[in-house]
Amino acid sequence: MKHIIFATSNEGKMKEIRLILKDLGIPVLSLKEAGISVDIVEDGTTFEENAIIKVKAIRPYTDGIILADDSGLEVDYLNKQPGVYSARFMGEDTPYTVKNQWIIDELKGVEKEKRTARFVCSIAASLPNGEILTTRGTIEGIIAEEQMGEEGFGYDPILYLPELEKTTAQLDAETKNKISHRGLALKEMKELMKKYL
Ligand code: IMP
Repeated sequence: MKHIIFATSNEGKMKEIRLILKDLGIPVLSLKEAGISVDIVEDGTTFEENAIIKVKAIRPYTDGIILADDSGLEVDYLNKQPGVYSARFMGEDTPYTVKNQWIIDELKGVEKEKRTARFVCSIAASLPNGEILTTRGTIEGIIAEEQMGEEGFGYDPILYLPELEKTTAQLDAETKNKISHRGLALKEMKELMKKYL
């Protein structure tokens, strides 16, 4: 196996992914590093569907292993929105301080038990033999009453983890990676993939 391609152009994600997959001893390339440029329409209705759409879109360009992820925030009180639309929610260019405040305002006065939410990540792998594998990781919390923390990105300032008494934006990167939805899904995928390497 000469390399694995991870279907993302997000360098932040690539750093985290390389760290987790390091012990496989196989180089993990981003789309850019693999010289692949393709517009992928993520029109699935679940995280799994979108992750599979991404690996399938890259299949014509390589005969090696392709990985992709799709992730987002599910807020139970908002019928699991923004969900698969997390990046596009309220518009791709709307600052997350605005998106996060909107969610906080929607949940104003809602009791703790009904504020449950989670980050979800699905990872898909397309194997050279044509098989497709998927894994899913989650990190459970509640929607905070105000935005807290400067670390991370996106919705991190509003997902509060009661057992750590912090939002995920108040965790350093190493701690977040250990317990994060993406970290968990990728570690599980690494174990599944080992028998195909
Ligand atoms: P995608 O998986 O790159 O399509 O993006 C999913 C979107 O979900 C991101 O743009 C964020 O809005 C949100 N999201 C996913 N994971 C996290 C996280 O770890 N922290 C905060 N927001 C996240």
